Amino acid sequence: MTDLPDLAQWRRQARDWLVSVLPRKDTARRAWGEGHPDFSVIRNLAEDEESTLLAAARGYQRLRYDAGYQAMTLPEEYGGRGLPSAYALAFAEEEAAFETPASTELISVTVGLVGHAVSMFGTDGQRSAYGRAFLRTDLLACQLFSEPGAGSDLAALSCGAVRDGDGWIVDGQKVWTSGAQFADYGLLLARTDPDVVKQAGITAFLVPMDAPGIEIRPIRQITGGAAFSEVFFTSVRVPDELRLGEPSEGWKVANGTLAFERTNSGAGTRRKGGTFEDVLELARSLGRTGDPIVRQRLADLYIRTVLRRATADRVARSTAAGRPPGPAASLGKLMGSELLTLTGDVAAEILGGRIAADTGEWGTFAWVEHLLGAPGYRIAGGTDQIQRNVIAERVLGLPPEPRVDRVPFSQLPRS
Ligand SMILES: Cc1cc2nc3c(=O)[nH]c(=O)nc-3n(C[C@H](O)[C@H](O)[C@H](O)COP(=O)(O)OP(=O)(O)OC[C@H]3O[C@@H](n4cnc5c(N)ncnc54)[C@H](O)[C@@H]3O)c2cc1C
Repeated sequence: MTDLPDLAQWRRQARDWLVSVLPRKDTARRAWGEGHPDFSVIRNLAEDEESTLLAAARGYQRLRYDAGYQAMTLPEEYGGRGLPSAYALAFAEEEAAFETPASTELISVTVGLVGHAVSMFGTDGQRSAYGRAFLRTDLLACQLFSEPGAGSDLAALSCGAVRDGDGWIVDGQKVWTSGAQFADYGLLLARTDPDVVKQAGITAFLVPMDAPGIEIRPIRQITGGAAFSEVFFTSVRVPDELRLGEPSEGWKVANGTLAFERTNSGAGTRRKGGTFEDVLELARSLGRTGDPIVRQRLADLYIRTVLRRATADRVARSTAAGRPPGPAASLGKLMGSELLTLTGDVAAEILGGRIAADTGEWGTFAWVEHLLGAPGYRIAGGTDQIQRNVIAERVLGLPPEPRVDRVPFSQLPRS
């Protein structure tokens, strides 16, 4: 796009469009005891509830795509609008004032990660067959990256793909795959050359999740739900036309995909867990706001909430100005997961015994879902320790971690 629309006018049009498709958020303080209290960090839904939620979320994503508000920063020939990030940020700010349908991890992965990856790294044929379909959520896709032996050190993955005529045969295992049961495709990273350093021998594929030889085993979580699964591959045949990028260039696809994850313009994101405002309401309802210890804890929570918002804002504005988010994204992620943990801790202190047994009182035992789900966000999207490593090396300039893996993957010691 050569002639950019005037941002202020574009923003007004976006707002008019939002008014035409969504109700405005009710900004009045929700009365204590009203509605169903949802403090869950990871949704805990039965399969039919998840299907209903996905259908509503997809309905809105399609409207967004058709109106030109999805994947706005992608070039037009890739299914986007070719707009600078400032426009995506303006849309996200406007959209925040509206009641968007509840979403799930699978929607963010499909649009923000896989849809973008296919658009950027796919062939013309893949873009027209899959890119737009993922960006519009006509097809859903999960992220088949992590393995039992490869998470923080993703390049250590060992699920293998071996060339076989006009296709590849995949054998191995993935784990923690969010939404695998509902996905049509998975973005798979597989080792195709073990005789080069670990990052160099990986290839990316799109895999139909109903291909013979794929077994999806949901993982029951501490909260009772099963939002993610183990995925096993036994001699799964993947046609070469579903290879994404060149052979052995999967690490480039992985890094590009993870960068989208960090700068994703908000497709399908949702509030995770309870907030400072919820804890304050809780303290008020239980008559604890006069307690000096509770007041101190609330003040601490408030300060950290404001700092977290300011950091997220800084990252968003830096991206909008065309600069990479850099280490501030790690700072934001770390502050976010620490805030989530602190929010649960302060709520639990105020609740006392009510957090251990359900008294039937509104909005009390419901905090259990927050407490049990918060640790997951210290792990997902890069663990707290990995964020600290980034901050140590790239912000504080401390010496990097010693590297002992500059040898071919096949020579690395593995347990
Ligand atoms: C809610 C949720 C959803 C997820 N969804 C998906 C998904 O859809 N698809 C997918 O592929 N994966 C998914 N994951 C997996 C996630 O990406 C991994 O769990 C994460 O990368 C960490 O890897 P790991 O679990 O193997 O832990 P490990 O990497 O084995 O880490 C174990 C511990 O060691 C620490 N550690 C590791 N390396 C270092 C180091 N160099 N320095 C200091 N400490 C270190 C870690 O911080 C951690 O405390 C999801 C995870 C969660 C919690």
